[in-house]
Amino acid sequence: MFSVTLNGMIAVYLVGILCALFFAWIAAEIFRKGRENRRRKYFVICGICDFVFEDLSSHDLAECPRCGAMNERERVLEI
Ligand SMILES: [Zn+2]
Repeated sequence: MFSVTLNGMIAVYLVGILCALFFAWIAAEIFRKGRENRRRKYFVICGICDFVFEDLSSHDLAECPRCGAMNERERVLEI
């Protein structure tokens, strides 16, 4: 049997917590990227009238149903 010191237990505990936080952060980033890509793919904000609409086609340009302007798909920023 190996002896366990209090400092060793604290160090192992802290390393375990840091690893759990790190993997939780990585998982959250992966989910956020996936969500953002889905939004970027289907939701378009019109640059002329600020109308947010869903466009399920795969074209680079989407026509605004309100004002008819052609909009380029851009990154949707979280507020
Ligand atoms: Zn518009």
